[in-house]
Amino acid sequence: MNGEPIRNIVIVGGGTAGWMAAAALGTVMGAMPDLSIRLIESEAIGTVGVGEATIPQIIAFNTMLGLDENEFVRETHATYKLGVEFVDWARKGHRYIHPFGSYGLDMLGIDFHHFWLRARDLGHGSELDAYSIAAMAGKAGKFIRPQNERPGSPLAKLGYAFQFDASRYARYLRRHAEARGVERTEGRVVEVLQDAESGFVTGVQLDGGEIVEGELFLDCSGFRSLLLGQTLGVPFTDWSKWLPCDRAVAMPCTLAGDRQPLTRSTAQPAGWQWRIPLQHRIGNGHVYASAFIDEDEATRLLLEGLDGEALAEPNRLRFTAGHRERLWEKNVVALGLSGGFLEPLESTAIHLVQSGIARLLTLFPTTAFTPHEIGRYNREGAQEYLDIRDFLVLHYRASERDDSEFWRYCRALDPPEGLAEKLAMFESSGRVIREHEELFTETSWLSVMVGQGVQAGGHHPVAQMLDEAETVKRLAHIRGVIESTVGQMPSQDEFLAANGSAI
Ligand code: FAD
Repeated sequence: MNGEPIRNIVIVGGGTAGWMAAAALGTVMGAMPDLSIRLIESEAIGTVGVGEATIPQIIAFNTMLGLDENEFVRETHATYKLGVEFVDWARKGHRYIHPFGSYGLDMLGIDFHHFWLRARDLGHGSELDAYSIAAMAGKAGKFIRPQNERPGSPLAKLGYAFQFDASRYARYLRRHAEARGVERTEGRVVEVLQDAESGFVTGVQLDGGEIVEGELFLDCSGFRSLLLGQTLGVPFTDWSKWLPCDRAVAMPCTLAGDRQPLTRSTAQPAGWQWRIPLQHRIGNGHVYASAFIDEDEATRLLLEGLDGEALAEPNRLRFTAGHRERLWEKNVVALGLSGGFLEPLESTAIHLVQSGIARLLTLFPTTAFTPHEIGRYNREGAQEYLDIRDFLVLHYRASERDDSEFWRYCRALDPPEGLAEKLAMFESSGRVIREHEELFTETSWLSVMVGQGVQAGGHHPVAQMLDEAETVKRLAHIRGVIESTVGQMPSQDEFLAANGSAI
């Protein structure tokens, strides 16, 4: 292998991204002799203070760290999440769920939804939600872990994630990382030092004067993008044309209203509002487009939509949808907000940190920093952002709403190429195809397409091998099995208590 082993890794920033990176590197590489992993963070600067909803992939990350799930849930005051409930998105008064896991049961080797589409064409309408154990359990406030050892049971089709207090998660990971040799330094980076010839970062200077040197730097400095953006000047790919929301106002409130294991997204006149129930409070925020609504009105709408009493002053945030053209430049890898941001409509930001860490571990460099690894990292990272972008744009583009300037803008959007192709395929044949290894599965695409009212122009010919009566009978059977399984599941509160995870 070319080059010397990396001996000093410096992580700049101690938000969710910084501590996830520290915990992962500590777990995998902490025992390597002669390797130092150092994290610098500034309490005075603080973290972004939001980021509570996750997707099922986080289970793999926590497992890789060796975390005990019941302890993790208790420590982070987490609740379980079975999907996202979209309210008023297709049109006012309408709601649907993007569930985790998959729909129905496998039938004749083709995707279940083709039988559902056929039944609908024959006039036997039933909600798609009724074929998802996650959606039905979510609505009923129930939770149990999937039971993969029972392949015929809908419980094998259940997927789940968590909703947690992000600052508690970071503190929890900090303990984990420090126990595995990661050294934390409190301080503010005031200067980034570079090699005059190569431009590689050689060290960072702290406000106290100390210089922390390293061979590999992880930029986890948040929206500031201190190393990748400010120092190395890697340009930003701006997608605000497709995703015009560029502001958020966040505010936690006391527990009140439903306690379903679901993140809720309610469409607003110029954006949407999140509601994330945790064990001790509800996280809320309004994501909006400043070209269509001002800050005061956005804050007023948020307050109007709270279920409980506000617990803090509004936290106002600004962002631009998109990502740095290259997430790895020279010896700097950006993780988290320093690399890019896509609005939290499908809770993907923490996942992007996770997949960036996984990719870095796979392609971990030596001091030679060969272009093959860097190029691959950047190609895969950019593709991942692009896939998520297309999925998010679908939510806006497919809405029937035309009751505000914002929604009329969204409806008139020219969809990006990949999304246009997916829409055309579904509209002509009812097919939903997952590209390469993209994050969102057929279930995700289907739930949002159907939920937002995109009409399928047909179904797979194999679905006609079952006659009408048999199709109706089998669909009713699946709905019945799901209903009775949900009936026997414990409530989320019962499950938390039974597993020692309640606070
Ligand atoms: P930050 O939390 O901003 O951390 C930056 C760190 O860098 C801090 O420790 C700071 O002190 C340090 N720092 C900065 N400058 C310096 C300096 N000069 N010297 C020393 N230290 C410095 N993600 C999800 O997965 N689900 C969600 O539901 C979700 N909701 C979100 C809602 C909104 C409105 C926003 C904006 C984001 C949301 N996210 C969500 C994203 C999520 O919050 C972030 O991806 C995640 O918290 C990672 O943030 P970070 O660590 O990159 O940045």
